[in-house]
Amino acid sequence: MEKRISGTTGLFTLLGSPVGHSGSPAMYNFSFQQQKLDYAYLAFDVKKEQMPQAIDALRLFKVRGSNVTMPCKSVAADLVDELSPAAKIIGAINVIVNDNGKLTGHITDGIGFVRNLKETGVDVAGKKLVVIGAGGAATALQVQCALDGATALTIFNRDDEFYANAEETQRKIKAAKPDVNVQVYPLADQEKLKEEIANADILVNATIVGMKPLNGQSLVDPSFLRADLVVADTVYNPLKTKLIEDAEKVGCTVAPGKGMLLWQGAAAYTLFTGKEMPTAEYQAYEAQQIGK
Ligand code: NAD
Repeated sequence: MEKRISGTTGLFTLLGSPVGHSGSPAMYNFSFQQQKLDYAYLAFDVKKEQMPQAIDALRLFKVRGSNVTMPCKSVAADLVDELSPAAKIIGAINVIVNDNGKLTGHITDGIGFVRNLKETGVDVAGKKLVVIGAGGAATALQVQCALDGATALTIFNRDDEFYANAEETQRKIKAAKPDVNVQVYPLADQEKLKEEIANADILVNATIVGMKPLNGQSLVDPSFLRADLVVADTVYNPLKTKLIEDAEKVGCTVAPGKGMLLWQGAAAYTLFTGKEMPTAEYQAYEAQQIGK
């Protein structure tokens, strides 16, 4: 490290709270080192109300780019100079690129989701998706799938404060991509869920159900699954949720959330550096670290 950091080293950051658990500094610093880029990446614990100061600091210190995580993704979108088309629709960002003082916000969660499916041989173009969830991850992937050519999206959510988000996403996608058929139903309507899954190509869990401490739980009755259904999850901890395990038992093609996490990070890396992230090398390194 002491040989890597110099007076010219460009800084990238992660802003959000908490950030201490984040894998991003390890992943990006590994990749910078692999590709001999004179960059370093550090995480800063920043609360929502501190974001205006943090954005000013990005400008002052000429920070090259930044990731933004919870709970700062929406407020950050209001503070940058420009937004990518997906970020404009979603109203949240997880990446900021500083181009000589002009800050552009992007959102790569949906890009990572689509890429993760592609890595399993599945293209969202022309597909019908059932997505359970209406929070940050759900909204990002719903909008990206619509932008990338999905023909239909059926959104289910429980009757909580996120339900209105689903209706808002339906409205926004209708305005941006009127050909995409977006429907919203309460998750309590299990007959509808069964019927919609029966007619879908891809089923997605984008809720926190399945994530620790809700691991071992799934929102989908295994009898709704069939072998030619593709099943994806946004949850990456644990690596395999109950839904993914149930889907594997039935013989479905599966795309767990860890891949989405990797590819949203890789998409950010490309925005930061203009290069492909050395994902295979990083995965090998990560596996080696876990084995230690
Ligand atoms: P969020 O808080 O914005 O949304 C939570 C969602 O879960 C809402 O739709 C809510 O209605 C639903 N929900 C909560 N409790 C529920 C319950 N008991 N039954 C049914 N629905 C319930 O969360 P988020 O940021 O969208 O994150 C969702 C999941 O996606 C988390 O596990 C998160 O770690 C993961 N995530 C993964 C990636 C990735 O790259 N793989 C990126 C972002 C988020």
